[in-house]
Amino acid sequence: MYVNVLVQISLSDDKLFTYSIPSVIKNKIQIGSRVKVPFGRTKIEGLIMGVKVQIDSDLKVKDIIEVIDDEPLLNDEMINLGKFMSETYLCSLITAYKTMLPSALKFNKNKTGIKTEKNIYIKEYKEVETRAERNIIEKLKENNKIKKSEISNKKALNKLLELNIVEEVKEEIYRLDTNTKKEEPKILTSKQDMVFKKVIQSDDKIHLIRGITGSGKTEIYMKLIENVIKSGKQAIVLVPEIAITTQLISRFRKIFGRDIAVLHSGLNDGEKYDEWRKIKRGEVSIAIGARSAVFAPFSNLGIIIIDEEHESSYKQDNNPRYNTIDIAIERCKKHDSKLILGSATPSLESYARAKTNKYNLIELLERINKKELPHVDIIDMKDELKKGHSLLSRKSIEKIKDRIQKKEQIMILLNRRGYSNYVLCRECGIVLKCPNCDISLTYHKGSNIMRCHYCGYGTNKPNKCSKCNSSHIMLMGTGIEKADEILRDMFKDLRIIRMDSDTTSKKGMYEKIINDFNDHKYDLLLGTQMIAKGLDFDNVSLVIVLNGDYSLNIPDYRSSEKTFQLLTQVAGRAGRKDLDGEIIIQTFNPDHYAITLSKNHDYFNFFNKEMLIRKRMFYPPFCLIVAVRIISKNYEEGYKEINKINKHLKNELNYKYVVLGPTSSLRINNTHKFQCIIKYKDKKLLYKVLRDIQKHYNNNKIKLEIDFNPTKL
Ligand SMILES: [Zn+2]
Ligand SMILES: [Zn+2]
Repeated sequence: MYVNVLVQISLSDDKLFTYSIPSVIKNKIQIGSRVKVPFGRTKIEGLIMGVKVQIDSDLKVKDIIEVIDDEPLLNDEMINLGKFMSETYLCSLITAYKTMLPSALKFNKNKTGIKTEKNIYIKEYKEVETRAERNIIEKLKENNKIKKSEISNKKALNKLLELNIVEEVKEEIYRLDTNTKKEEPKILTSKQDMVFKKVIQSDDKIHLIRGITGSGKTEIYMKLIENVIKSGKQAIVLVPEIAITTQLISRFRKIFGRDIAVLHSGLNDGEKYDEWRKIKRGEVSIAIGARSAVFAPFSNLGIIIIDEEHESSYKQDNNPRYNTIDIAIERCKKHDSKLILGSATPSLESYARAKTNKYNLIELLERINKKELPHVDIIDMKDELKKGHSLLSRKSIEKIKDRIQKKEQIMILLNRRGYSNYVLCRECGIVLKCPNCDISLTYHKGSNIMRCHYCGYGTNKPNKCSKCNSSHIMLMGTGIEKADEILRDMFKDLRIIRMDSDTTSKKGMYEKIINDFNDHKYDLLLGTQMIAKGLDFDNVSLVIVLNGDYSLNIPDYRSSEKTFQLLTQVAGRAGRKDLDGEIIIQTFNPDHYAITLSKNHDYFNFFNKEMLIRKRMFYPPFCLIVAVRIISKNYEEGYKEINKINKHLKNELNYKYVVLGPTSSLRINNTHKFQCIIKYKDKKLLYKVLRDIQKHYNNNKIKLEIDFNPTKL
C-alpha cells in the first residue's frame, strides 16, 4: 500500500508525492493526518491526502518516517474545502490547510503542547498512620480528586503514593475554562419572533437579516442556536472585531454556559489549540470568533451566523485571500445547514443578491420596545474652524457638558492613532518620513516615539531639523492621544478612557476597558474605529464622530459605502436602552450623500443611489474584481514585470474583461507594489490566464499576488 502525501515545496507551491508505508505504522495511516517524510536530503512534514494500492512499477518510492497524529487533523469536508479554496483563490493547498488549523498544529513548526495538571486519586482504602495522611484521604473521599499542587504536606503524600493507597495521574486541562452563572434567555418580542420563524420555516438556506441597530439581532441569533442545539447540531457565530467578541461572548455565556469555544486573535497559541480541541472532540456546540472561526472543525453543523456581514475584516488580506462568506456558503452546502448574514447596513453585494432572491431577505426595521433611532446632527466644521473651533464644535461642547451634568456616558470616535498626524519643520517645510516607506511618521506621545504605522519603524523625535538645523519642529494635526489631552484639559472632572490599538496591545485590555466603561468607572470612551461597531452600553446617550469624512477621502470605489456604514453603525451605539440617543457628526463634507443619508439611517435610498453610480462606473456588484499585483524590492524590475503582465492580460482576455492599470503604490517597508485591476463577470477564461501567469512567478525575488474581491484598491 502507498500514500499520496502533500508536501510544501516553496511558499507558493505544493505537490503530491507517493510514499510507501512501513508495516509497523500501517494501522496508523489515515487520510488527513500529518506524516514526517524524507524529502531530498531533509525530513519534512506533509499531509496524507489519499491511499493507493498500486503504483507504476518503475516509480521509486521512499518510506514514510512516522505518522504524527493519532487522529486525522482534517476530515473529508476540510480536505475538500481546502481544494475549493485552492481553486477559488488560486492559492496553494497547504496554505489553505494551514489556515484551517490552529498554529500549534501547523506544519514544520515548533509545537505548543497540551497543558496538563497532576491530580491525586484514591486507589485503595487502607489504614494509615499519621493525621496528615488521614487528612488527604478524607479530602479525597469528599472530592474524588485533588490537584497535586493543592496538597501542602508532600511528605504525607509521598508516603501514600509509596504505599499505593493513592495514585498520581497526569491529566489534560484547557487553559480557558470560564464558568458563568446562567440566566434564562430573554423572551423574543413579536417582531424578533417573526424573524426567527421566517428563518426556521423557510426552505431557503441563506438568509440576510437587515435589522437596524438596536433591533435585537443577537437575541434572534441565540434563539436560532438554541433551536439548532436541540436537534443535536452545532453553531458557528462570527463577529468582525475582537472588541465585539468580548461583549458577545459574555452575553452568550449567560445563556449557554460552557457550551462555547472561543477563537480569535486575542488568545495565545495554547489557548487557541485548546479551544480547537474542544470543538473537534464535540465537547462544545458553539464556536464564537472572528474570521478564522469559520473553520471550526464541527462535524454536524446546523447554522453559521455572520454578524455585521458587510465588514471588510471578513476578507483575509494575506494568503490565502479568502472571503469568509464564500467559505460559510460552501460549508453550509456540505452540512445542509443555514447561513445567516446579519447587518444594519448590508454590503451592496449582499443586499443586491437578496433583492434578486439569491438570499432570503428578512427586514427588521423597528428597535426593541419601539425605541426611536437616535437623532443625528451634522456639523459643518468649515464654519466651526472659522470661529476657532477645530477639535470640538460648539454643539459638541454644549452636549458634553449636558451629559456630564446628567451623569450619562459619552463615546467619541476619532479614527487617527497617535498624537499628531505628521511632524513638520516650520523653517524648510520638510515632513519627517519613514526611511523604509514613503509615509510620514506619526508622533506617539505616550511612548515619546515617532512611528511608522505601515512598517512599525520607530525613532525619537529630533530637536533639530536634519536638513536645515532649525529647531522649529512642529507636531501637526490631531491624533487620538492629543484629543485625549485636549478633552482632559477642557473638562477637568471628566473621567476618560481611550481605546485604540496602542492601549489594547496588552492581553486582556479590551475586556478591561469595556468592562470598566460598562461599570461606569469612566464617563467618556474615546476610541478609533474599534468602538464603532457592535458595542452596547446602556448608559451612553451621546456619540460624537470627530472626523466623519475620514473614510470618504480614501481612493476606493467603496468609500461612500464605507462612510455610510460606519456612520450608521456609530449612530446605533447611543440610546440603546432607556435613554434617548443623540449623535453628532463633525465633517467638512456636510452635503455628501453618504453623510446626509446616514442622518436618517436611510439605507434604502443609499442603496439605490449607490447602485446607480456603481452601474454607471461598472463596479461591483455589477461585476467582480480581481487585483493582480507584483511585489518587488526593486522599482525598475517590478515596473517591468507589471507591464509584461498588463500586456499579457490585455492580449489574452477578450472584450468582456476590463483591464485597468498598471498603477504603483507608495513604497512600504522598502517594497514596491504594482497592480492591475480586472473587472469581469465570467471567470472561466480569466482563471486560465491567471494560472498561466502564476506559473512564471515561483521565486521569491519578485512576488505575484492575486487578490479576488480586494478590500483595498
Ligand atoms: Zn528644516
Ligand atoms: Zn515605514
